This record gives sequence, C-alpha cells and structure tokens, in this order.
Amino acid sequence: MNKAPSLESNRSLIITYNLPISKTSKFWDELKQGKVYATKCKKCGKLVFPPVADCGPCGSSEIEWTELIGNGKIVTFTEVVVKPASFSEEPSYIVAIAKLSEGVKVLAWLSGIKKEKLHIGMKVKLKAKVFSDKKVAYEFVPA
Ligand SMILES: [Zn+2]
Repeated sequence: MNKAPSLESNRSLIITYNLPISKTSKFWDELKQGKVYATKCKKCGKLVFPPVADCGPCGSSEIEWTELIGNGKIVTFTEVVVKPASFSEEPSYIVAIAKLSEGVKVLAWLSGIKKEKLHIGMKVKLKAKVFSDKKVAYEFVPA
C-alpha cells in the first residue's frame, strides 16, 4: 500500500482549554476560600466528587452542594515519573485514591510525604490548594 505523502515537523502544537464551568462554578469559588465541595443528587442520593451538574446514575439535574470534611484513607497510590506534557517541568509526583469518611473516592495529588513512608490505609486530608497566580486545585496531605 502506498503511504500518503506528508511533511514531517518538529514543531509543537499548544492547545489552551477553556472548559465551561457555569453549573459547577460554586466548586471553584469555594476552593478559593479553602473549602472542598462535592455534589449530591437530591433524587437518588449519589455523592460525587469532583462535582457534576447532572447525576450519572439517575440522570437527575436536581443536585445539591455538600462540603467535604476531607478525612480519608489511602486506597492506592503511585508515583508519576513519566509525566504528561503539561506537567513535564514538574518533579516526579505522587497521586493517590483515598476513600473519604463521606463515602466517596477521590483521586488527587498527594503532597508533603515521601513515597517510602506511604501505605494503604494511611490517613490523609483532602484540602484546597490556591496557587500564587490565583489558580486553584485540591490535594491530599498526610492527616
Ligand atoms: Zn441521582
């Protein structure tokens, strides 16, 4: 089979995302205040994190906001050594999944502890993280 002619390029393509967040803007506003919120379906009671505008299991759009205390235990974790392009300048980092006392499982970066000291079942706290450029995120820290 003939290969279609093409030009090779070493140039990078940069894509900037602007994700619509109008239905979940409360989540981002509260993170700036240091609070972490999840959404709970008023119809079926499903608690979801990160927040959603519509319930996955039942399809309802009747959602209420619930502040998470954020206490949890590590279910699993890994160190990310080969990073995605957007984090290529970062040193290696740890991500963990923890089950919170509210019952929801959360995936987040884990800061403030070395990988060698981590173990399944270890207590962590989910907290808001505000960067110097006012961007926000959430992360686990040892509890
Ligand atoms: Zn539901």
